[in-house]
Order: sequence, then structure tokens, then C-alpha cells
Amino acid sequence: MAIAIPGFTCKFRTSCGGVLRCQDPVEDHGFCEFHLEAFLRNEIAESGVISDRLSDQERRREINYHGIVFPDIPYPG
Ligand SMILES: [Zn+2]
Repeated sequence: MAIAIPGFTCKFRTSCGGVLRCQDPVEDHGFCEFHLEAFLRNEIAESGVISDRLSDQERRREINYHGIVFPDIPYPG
């Protein structure tokens, strides 16, 4: 299981589950490759939370779940 290391993992915080963060490695601006692209499209704020202005529910779900490891789901291995 991936361990979150500040500065080395993406700073995106999901709005599904409060304090869970994306576990992908940082690409640039503190975001992983996926969330960096969303940030550059103004779908994520600089602070690492999803934009309230993003109204596409499918896209919100995609962004909110990318790289997130939910502790209540059994993790293989
Ligand atoms: Zn990420």
C-alpha cells in the first residue's frame, strides 16, 4: 500500500470522504499528472480541492476518485 509522503504525493484532497488525498506521485505544481491536467483546466483550485464551478457530475466523480485509496475498502496484498 502506498504511503503518503508530503511533497512527494499529489496534494489533491477528495470531497468524497473529507481528508483523503490522492496517492499518485507529484508531476508538477504539487499535483500528479492526472490532477495537474484538471488544475490547468480550472477544475481544481490551487489549494488542492475540486472547484465548486465544475458542474459535470461524471467529471467530478472521475477527479474525486482518481488516486484515492479508501481505508474502509480491503486492499489486495
Ligand atoms: Zn492526484
